[in-house]
Amino acid sequence: MTEYGPQPVERRLPTEEARDLLTLVRELAGREIRPTTAEDEDAGRFPRETFALLSESGLLSLPYEEEFGGGNQPYEVYLQVLEELAAARLTVGLGVSVHTLACHALARHGTKEQRAEHLPAMLTGGLLGAYCLSEPASGSDAASLRTRAVRDGDDWVIDGTKAWITHGGVADFYTVLARTGGEGPRGITAFLVPGDAEGLSAAAPERKMGMNGSPTAQVHFDGVRVPDNRRIGEEGQGFAIALDALDSGRLGIAACAIGIAQAALDEALAYTAGREQFGRPVSDFQGVRFMIADMATRIEAGRSLYLAAARLRDAGEPFARQAAMAKLFCTDAAMRITTDAVQLLGGYGYTRDYPVERLMREAKVLQIVEGTNQIQRMVIARHLVGPESR
Ligand SMILES: Cc1cc2nc3c(=O)[nH]c(=O)nc-3n(C[C@H](O)[C@H](O)[C@H](O)COP(=O)(O)OP(=O)(O)OC[C@H]3O[C@@H](n4cnc5c(N)ncnc54)[C@H](O)[C@@H]3O)c2cc1C
Repeated sequence: MTEYGPQPVERRLPTEEARDLLTLVRELAGREIRPTTAEDEDAGRFPRETFALLSESGLLSLPYEEEFGGGNQPYEVYLQVLEELAAARLTVGLGVSVHTLACHALARHGTKEQRAEHLPAMLTGGLLGAYCLSEPASGSDAASLRTRAVRDGDDWVIDGTKAWITHGGVADFYTVLARTGGEGPRGITAFLVPGDAEGLSAAAPERKMGMNGSPTAQVHFDGVRVPDNRRIGEEGQGFAIALDALDSGRLGIAACAIGIAQAALDEALAYTAGREQFGRPVSDFQGVRFMIADMATRIEAGRSLYLAAARLRDAGEPFARQAAMAKLFCTDAAMRITTDAVQLLGGYGYTRDYPVERLMREAKVLQIVEGTNQIQRMVIARHLVGPESR
């Protein structure tokens, strides 16, 4: 007999190892993450111990090379892991995505010596990363950033303020984009800064609409000194490195969005099957059934889109346009689906007794981070019609 209601996601995974990994992640999320999500998010508690557990289990290293402690998994597998983690708690899924983004610069653009020195601890040593591009006066126009790094002998001295930094104040390392040359994108260089560097401090976390367990804070650099061997890539190459990291990071955001959309659909399916009005389950009404059908279809479309982009990346093909499309589509879909889930739970959907209101608040941030959805449209259009005339 067919079982109706929430179903385990049917995943196409390339290897037996990947299938075992997803089973492990689903169990771990159900046992260690989901049970405390509502309480922790209400209390604004950052689950540091969960990240320690993920690091121990190899889940903070998945898409990176084995040689330096990475899990050597294709992006299509890593993203499906992220989706499961985000479905259990966005603070964790997005946190893993940001950590992976913070490792990207060094893993892809660091020298062999730098990778050997730092990556093993970053990937499996219990460390947590942050990625510092945005500033109080530069968000979408990230290339106008003002944080400055000045050469002093064999060191660089960094001064400035970064804004909206996920894991700001709790991270063990910060990938920082700072100006070392003139105006514009070519004057920017990337650095790997340890969390305990003298002169580095974080402001109180922002008071956000959602994802309250994930600290987002300004990070101040007041004469922070790092040796030149913590510069990643060449001087002036930092903006290209930052954008390269974001192409991959956007796929992580897309996967997180589908994770919370799936969680909202599952809630809506369970609730509408049990809630009776007019003498029958509300899931019997065509107006409800069509909403559910549209929600499920958008989830499948979004998942297919992010996986298609990931498979291009895994094959070494260009994937920036497809990553922007996946981020745009999946996060808009998550906003719509979580809003519809609140609607399908009626008055209860609007209360904290059910998770759908939290999922709706969480979906909103995904339309903003790592390039707002207007910026994604700009990126996609540039690939199709070329750069704007000014
Ligand atoms: C919870 C959270 C976590 C974050 N984590 C990080 C992090 O870890 N690291 C990091 O570096 N940053 C992080 N950010 C910052 C995030 O990436 C920025 O908020 C985002 O890029 C937008 O920048 P902004 O907020 O300055 O908005 P602005 O750039 O000021 O934009 C304001 C509005 O104008 C629109 N807009 C701007 N330019 C254009 C244009 N050319 N065409 C059309 N519309 C335009 C935008 O889409 C937006 O709607 C985080 C933000 C949040 C909320």
